Amino acid sequence: MAAPQSNEYDVVIVGAGPAGMAAALYAGRARLKTILLDRMGAGGGQLLNTELIEDYPGFRSITGADLAKAQEDQIKDFDAEIAWGEVASIEARGNRRVVRTDDGTEYVGKTVIVASGGLPKKLGVPGEVEFAGRGVSYCAICDGAFFKGKVLAVVGGGDSAVEEATFLTRYAEKVYVLHRRGEWRAQKLIAERALSNPKIQPIWHSAVEEILGEQQVTGMRVKDLQSGATREIPVGGVFIYVGFTPNSGILPGAKTDEQGFIVTDDRMALDSLPGVFVAGDVRSQYVRQIANAVGDATTAAVAATRYIEELDATGDPDKSQANVEATLVAAGEAGYP
Ligand code: NAP
Repeated sequence: MAAPQSNEYDVVIVGAGPAGMAAALYAGRARLKTILLDRMGAGGGQLLNTELIEDYPGFRSITGADLAKAQEDQIKDFDAEIAWGEVASIEARGNRRVVRTDDGTEYVGKTVIVASGGLPKKLGVPGEVEFAGRGVSYCAICDGAFFKGKVLAVVGGGDSAVEEATFLTRYAEKVYVLHRRGEWRAQKLIAERALSNPKIQPIWHSAVEEILGEQQVTGMRVKDLQSGATREIPVGGVFIYVGFTPNSGILPGAKTDEQGFIVTDDRMALDSLPGVFVAGDVRSQYVRQIANAVGDATTAAVAATRYIEELDATGDPDKSQANVEATLVAAGEAGYP
């Protein structure tokens, strides 16, 4: 077996979504040797599952794919490298942090910024796994065009469910939005737009019990949670948007909240492993928007930059971390380089 390659960096960033890109931008501009790793083979993360973005300051309306491309082009201006690979582990080796991908490649960093995001949650009903790719989907943008003229169902009541239901009306004859409560949790503007769309029909207080079909999805069995009655609703596809599971497994020792999101301090630093910072959707926080993902990542990159300065000066990561904390607190630092 070939020996693993070894590559040395100042900052190794895991995940090329908006948080990873913002971290790479700040690290690159600080003239740090930076690499961004992602398993997708394309930068953008969840942006690539998002049709239109209208709530990222400075952009009235931009597609997820265009924003991802703009972010990737921008980091290349500052010599940040991008490589593709599934990260399997992150560990300490003296005062270095080692990121290993599943093919054995090692990326050795003075610091690591984990911006690994997450993946759509499964509903966990019969038929979901069986019909995945045959009428069950978690990505309206990827699969919507295959459902021209069909009646579709979206399950969930958050921003993703309601936004993507609106997107699906481009192709579908009708879109049911099936939600377990009597009110969506989606932002008001997103909800109002959907409710005024004649192709969208909410089904409140309801749960999918089973996704039905033979070769392809033909319907779903739905339970009315108020009356307890069940009925079958014919649909040609079911799009599931019931939340998000963080990709936090690559930091098994890290403190997490009850949903598995990683808890950091306000500099995005990980308690259990100094020199490792966490930003974006994988981090425990109140909201998960592009704007706060890039905000977190900015903080993480600036804190990593200071960590490296102290590490280079003292050679001791623990001492260095204490110095960084003390310097930042003393300066009343707001995070500007
Ligand atoms: P989310 O906000 O967590 O919403 C998940 C939805 O699925 C909720 O309505 C929840 O119902 C429902 N749900 C959860 N488990 C369920 C189950 N087992 N069966 C049926 N329904 C279930 O997730 P999201 O929509 O994917 O959004 C994730 C984050 O990204 C959020 O912070 C969101 O604001 C953000 N986001 C923002 C935008 C934007 O600003 N344009 C777009 C997409 C996502 P309950 O409401 O009853 O809990």
